[in-house]
Amino acid sequence: MDRTLRLLSVVAPVYDEDALVEAFHARVCGALEGIPFELILVDDGSSDRTPELLTQIAARDPRVRVITLSRNFGHQTALTAGLDHARGDAVAMIDADLQDPPELIPQMLEHWRTGTDVVYAVRRRRDGETRFKLTTARWFYRLFSTLAEVELEPDSGDFRLLDRAPLDALLSMRERNRFLRGMTVWVGYTQTAVPYERDARHAGETKYTLRKMLTFSLDAISSFSHRPLQLATLVGFLCAAFAFVLIPAVIALRIAGSYLPGFGTITIAVLLLGGIQLMAIGLIGEYVGRIYDEVKRRPLYLVRTRLNEPGEPPGV
Ligand code: UDP
Ligand code: MG
Repeated sequence: MDRTLRLLSVVAPVYDEDALVEAFHARVCGALEGIPFELILVDDGSSDRTPELLTQIAARDPRVRVITLSRNFGHQTALTAGLDHARGDAVAMIDADLQDPPELIPQMLEHWRTGTDVVYAVRRRRDGETRFKLTTARWFYRLFSTLAEVELEPDSGDFRLLDRAPLDALLSMRERNRFLRGMTVWVGYTQTAVPYERDARHAGETKYTLRKMLTFSLDAISSFSHRPLQLATLVGFLCAAFAFVLIPAVIALRIAGSYLPGFGTITIAVLLLGGIQLMAIGLIGEYVGRIYDEVKRRPLYLVRTRLNEPGEPPGV
């Protein structure tokens, strides 16, 4: 196993972060002094001054490559675009908002040198997040671990360092609903955790609205679990079983001469069953919609421009 580092790729998605891209670039350069690296910044369709600042940084620093997507494709897709372009023997994915300290990367590299293929950072503490975000994140990780087929460490985010082999495996997975942290676990290889303290955002605001978080959670669970679909079957069986038990009971009561005026009961039963059926259909719809997205086989993202590109652009 050859673990000499010829090049490290650091990949960060950037979306409307003009308040902090300069600071991020400076922190990364400071943290990685003496390490041969390229910094791939993916502009995920920013509409503020980010593109301008990125162009300036790229003009100043030839190690910085800027990939501009044609519109906003979302965090996970932007990250994928960056990973597609990475040329390093090892690749670090990191958020551009300085919540993940770039100073941790040399430590992750040490694990890589001693033979670990996937090094993931686990948040020991999270500063500057709302209580709402912390609680919903905890719920999400709990739900994910009961439903999903991969063992995702709670509180591990997308801050990870991958060797070329698991990275290539990851990149061969071209599904559209991407939950990258789950996918990096799914590929296997050897994995190690590195604890860290997650800082508050350096500047700006979170780009994850409640709606994006919900979609993201649904993407995560649906791409790693069929349990919700099986749940619909289970509830169906339970309801049917209940009805079958009731049929002889009703007949027996009729014969015994006791007549139940059951209008209320029937209404409730109809509504309840209708509700369960609609929920089950909705649940199936979530999966069918995702299947539809997959079969369309559209490209995951479109690149508008590339700065400081070495050689040929890779295929998408
Ligand atoms: N981001 C992106 N596209 C998006 C949303 C976010 O590229 O549609 C980037 C963002 O600029 C940041 C990273 O993804 O570098 C993480 O986003 P954010 O900090 O808003 O998420 P949070 O840390 O609040 O979960
Ligand atoms: Mg953040």
